[in-house]
Amino acid sequence: MFFGEKILEYKEEILKDLDELIRIKSVSASDKESASDALKWILSKAESMGFVTKNIQGVAGHAEYGEGEGLAAVLAHVDVVPAGEGWSTEPYELTEKDGRLYGRGIVDDKGPAIVALYCLKALKDNGIVPNRRIRVIFGAGEEIGMNDMETYFESEEMPDMAFTPDSEYGICNCEKGILQIEISSENNEGMYLKRFHAGSAVNAVPSSADAFVDREFNAAGRASHGSTPELGVNAAANLIKTLADIYGYPSLGNLCEFLGKEIGSETDGKTLEIACEDEQSGKLTVNLGKIDIDENISHAFLDIRYPVTADFTEILKKIGEKAAPYLLKVGVYNHEMPLQVSEDMPLIDLLKKSYKTVTGEEAKIYSTGGGTYARTLRNRGVAFGPVFEGDTSNIHDVDESMNKENFFRHAQICLEAMYGFAEMK
Ligand SMILES: [Zn+2]
Repeated sequence: MFFGEKILEYKEEILKDLDELIRIKSVSASDKESASDALKWILSKAESMGFVTKNIQGVAGHAEYGEGEGLAAVLAHVDVVPAGEGWSTEPYELTEKDGRLYGRGIVDDKGPAIVALYCLKALKDNGIVPNRRIRVIFGAGEEIGMNDMETYFESEEMPDMAFTPDSEYGICNCEKGILQIEISSENNEGMYLKRFHAGSAVNAVPSSADAFVDREFNAAGRASHGSTPELGVNAAANLIKTLADIYGYPSLGNLCEFLGKEIGSETDGKTLEIACEDEQSGKLTVNLGKIDIDENISHAFLDIRYPVTADFTEILKKIGEKAAPYLLKVGVYNHEMPLQVSEDMPLIDLLKKSYKTVTGEEAKIYSTGGGTYARTLRNRGVAFGPVFEGDTSNIHDVDESMNKENFFRHAQICLEAMYGFAEMK
């Protein structure tokens, strides 16, 4: 018997509440009010459990338990990305089918948010008096750039240690830096290209592109997350190549010429001369995420994920030098610093033990190009769970789901870790 098992007593309540939360269509990109409603809903749930709660400007908040100087936290978000078309179940409700739980947010990240709250309740119900305060921090804007946590930490204290169940098991202590760049052109002399559109988000590989020169062109590709562009096929890069073969670069304008010649379908930044890698976090990646060209605008966006040891000012400088001959303007659209937490931190040890207690296996330490709340924690927190290897969760895709047994395995690990927060001297 280990403490984490106690979460299984709340199985039915967790699933019932999760269904209610999933039914709030909290798509932060298009409906901030609903995202705020989801936050309000979970905070009032926490209040009804007897916790002190706080709502910070409708974008983030927390439930707190215990007393003391120190503070440990679990961070989860209640906003989601749009459902998209083609689900085999109703996206905005919880469906159990063939031993799996389906619904938008079940994995990312409403399931883990409800679970963390019930873990806090389990500590309280079992009369645990923690050696420090423990918070579950909820955000409503994770999917739109994480400004929610920026706002939260402007007025709230930074935890001494924390984890966010918003990735995969084991422990992610390394997140690449995210540098999103806008490249624009104001000089389109001699350009016969009338229109070019590709991509709807900077952080995704465009799966389709269309253009008009003297007739219509379309190209198809395969979508992938912006942190793994090598797994996709970039429709925009394909279309530029097709048009250049037919019309030649000068008739496509400076921007397309730059994109075609200096990037093409490369995802490692080789021709841009920014390719690099390190042992901790792997290779730099470049994704050409979005292009909009018409009579009014001419700009493109790159999503660059750089290794933790790389210097982003050098990367930016290099791209500026490469773009200069094409008379293009280069600006930073969004930048998130990399995360690197030492494996020697007591937090890492605690999480490793929790994982082993529940699964009997060693937690692997890994690195990602993705971004989680961990990077807002000034190297005091990591991503930890909830997805297990081999369980296809379809995050950000149709049929987001998780094996039910795994879901409650995650719940036990989460409670075991929070119990560790409470007991740690
Ligand atoms: Zn997430």
